[in-house]
Amino acid sequence: MIEDDSVALVTGASSGIGAETAVQLAEAGADVALAARREDRLREVAERVEATGSEALVVPADVSERDEVVRMVADTVDELGGLDVLVNNAGVMLLEAVADADPANWRTMIEVNLIGLMNATKEALPHLRDGGHVINVSSVAGRVAGETSSGYSATKFGVNAFTEGLRQEEADDGLRTTLIEPGFVETELADHIPDEDIQDHTEEMLQEMDVLQPEDIARAIVYATDQPEHVSVNELMVRPTGQA
Ligand code: NDP
Repeated sequence: MIEDDSVALVTGASSGIGAETAVQLAEAGADVALAARREDRLREVAERVEATGSEALVVPADVSERDEVVRMVADTVDELGGLDVLVNNAGVMLLEAVADADPANWRTMIEVNLIGLMNATKEALPHLRDGGHVINVSSVAGRVAGETSSGYSATKFGVNAFTEGLRQEEADDGLRTTLIEPGFVETELADHIPDEDIQDHTEEMLQEMDVLQPEDIARAIVYATDQPEHVSVNELMVRPTGQA
């Protein structure tokens, strides 16, 4: 359950799903630490968090850098007095066909989407208080791979495997884990696709259907978080109704 003294740390909180999740967790009563690289955008989200009456902490961090992840968790615990919920949401989607892919983009996706999430989880574990919760934002692409999503899907399949292993290790100690698997959500995610044709195709698909908004996924995250301690919502896949 989210209580008035709950503390959440949200990565990738400068835009899209992470920003809305931070605001909705604050509306539910949690103080929220906001992590990402763009500090100016984090400050805008912090103002929205504070407008709810909850406390906001801006923690600029690149999750692909282990020392920055260590500092991000330590600063949250020091400044907000503890940690109850970690939302590993930071991610990049650099879609490319294998034959054309720049291996540097594979490395970036693995380091942000997977290693960043693994390091943040490991650092948070000793600090998570009773009823602690790790929420990992995966994707429909973490369950089904497709053309041009081989690299991205490899990271999200990894997120799913890591989360299930963690669940089994920590269930006895009362840790809850939730995998969130969104379908198409209107965010900045597609802006960074390196291949112009794939980016145009993705934008067209997004325009063709009534896609999800970031707040739709934030609601799913708050639902999973705001359950009694004996209820662990392990997995939520949320697609736009029109997504086949
Ligand atoms: P956005 O691009 O809007 O948000 C991505 C967030 O990740 C930003 O806040 C960005 O902040 C942060 N980020 C990226 N790289 C790093 C880094 N190295 N260190 C710290 N933060 C980083 O997209 P979404 O909101 O859509 O993405 C959120 C998550 O949802 C991702 O994991 C994505 O894979 C997943 N998802 C999204 C779907 C969609 O259709 N939009 C579908 C399925 C899953 P900054 O640039 O300031 O560092």
